[in-house]
Amino acid sequence: MFESIEELEKAISGCEKCGLCKHRNNIVLGEGNINADLMFIGEGPGADEDKEGRPFVGKAGILMNQAFIGLGIKREDCYITNVVKCRPENNRNPETEEANACKDYLRSQVMIIKPKIIVLLGSVALKNIIDESLSITRARGKWIEVKGIKYMPTYHPAALLRDESKKIDFWNDLKLVLDELKKS
Ligand code: URA
Ligand code: SF4
Repeated sequence: MFESIEELEKAISGCEKCGLCKHRNNIVLGEGNINADLMFIGEGPGADEDKEGRPFVGKAGILMNQAFIGLGIKREDCYITNVVKCRPENNRNPETEEANACKDYLRSQVMIIKPKIIVLLGSVALKNIIDESLSITRARGKWIEVKGIKYMPTYHPAALLRDESKKIDFWNDLKLVLDELKKS
């Protein structure tokens, strides 16, 4: 485990712990407020993220930013990262071994940032972080509490780009998150 973001940045630089290192241009560790109460975990970098070295800057990220503006969530107050920090080629889902190889970095991020709430964006985050057997359609919108952290699973923003009808659920799930944050 790593004690600080600086230590983590140093450790991850040049990482070759899994095969995703072969095709990446940039490692996307994550970004945001390291004292955030609210953390978002996506799947892995896409082409735009790989190019820029920042999470959620492509189409899915733009949609997420719009939802944040509508809901009054400040992106800069949150911390945003992914299950894997290097881009799976052709945007395929990361394999379990790749997610496992990358897990120490994610665990350290959670330990350093100590968020109150973590939003799990999509099935890959839900399955890798909570339980392989869960389905995002059934689990979304319901709190899961593990070791003092409240997890809210919801759809991945890229799923909203494919199916507009999911937007309302995404919005409502984030409303639950905001209501909970206001209580704490
Ligand atoms: N999709 C993700 O899961 N993460 C990103 O950073 C961008 C798109
Ligand atoms: Fe290392 Fe994670 Fe990138 Fe794999 S995905 S090479 S474990 S940083």
